[in-house]
Amino acid sequence: DLMAKDAENKRSLENDLQLAIRRNEFRLFFQPIIDLASKRLAGAEALIRWKHPTRGMVPPDAFIPLSEETGLIVDIGLWTLEVACQQLATWQAQSKDYYVSLNVSGRQIPDGLPSAKLIESVRRHGVDPAKLVIEITEGVLLGDFAKAQAWLNSVREHGFRIYLDDFGTGYSSLSYLKRFPVDTLKIDKSFIRDMSEDNSDRTLVEAIIAMANSLHLTVVAEGVETGDQLALLTKMGCNYVQGYHFSKPVPADEFDAVAVRIGGMLT
Ligand code: C2E
Ligand code: CA
Ligand code: CA
Repeated sequence: DLMAKDAENKRSLENDLQLAIRRNEFRLFFQPIIDLASKRLAGAEALIRWKHPTRGMVPPDAFIPLSEETGLIVDIGLWTLEVACQQLATWQAQSKDYYVSLNVSGRQIPDGLPSAKLIESVRRHGVDPAKLVIEITEGVLLGDFAKAQAWLNSVREHGFRIYLDDFGTGYSSLSYLKRFPVDTLKIDKSFIRDMSEDNSDRTLVEAIIAMANSLHLTVVAEGVETGDQLALLTKMGCNYVQGYHFSKPVPADEFDAVAVRIGGMLT
């Protein structure tokens, strides 16, 4: 029956997931993030892909939740940190000052990704911590708030920056931002998608940007797919944009070509 099949499918996926790191099946893709004020490519979000031997490319939504359940997300997170630092070192050697933002799950904080590990990794690769951004969601607070707060303070004190991802979808409150200080708000793509047609979403995006400005936080809009959305966000004073309008996430070896194309779009 269907339920038994589902359970079997999950078990086999879980088995394969255990082996994926050793079998070198993960890939880290990079999606450009554009600074609207300077009209420059500023950096990239690192997004994991799983190249499964028989299933093909498995999207993160199909295995990240499972890896959080099993705890495997800790090893996956250490792998993404390593590859992101390698990429930063490569870009630095080519005199490109891009930053990289890494997605980190609540399950990894605080013990799965201690600040000492972050420091060790950037030092080993000779990378500036200011070039490494950690993207978290407010879900990290569902665990031990005090521990998460101590982790955040330590990470920020060492010069890493923190983005609050999926902003607007949860319970994000202003008092929360005070107790859990971040550098940047990342407006969820669901609001950007409906902004051109839906007046309430447009007002909401405008309000988030205004609030962020007055709190001296920067704003990234994700899921920007059209020139219309880009024009609206520019007018609203949004700082950074990311989305298919400029590029989908690509492997590192395609990033240079994408950067050239984006350079053309921005002049
Ligand atoms: P996210 O962090 O919210 O990442 C943004 C997602 O939106 C990505 O999906 C990206 O490919 C997609 N996207 C970017 N621009 C557009 C656009 O213009 N339109 C549309 N419709 N989508 C766009 P992706 O790569 O499938 O990742 C899904 C989620 O998986 C991520 O959502 C993140 O929560 C998680 N994830 C991805 N990589 C990692 C990782 O290395 N570690 C952890 N813990 N989670 C990850
Ligand atoms: Ca993200
Ligand atoms: Ca998001």
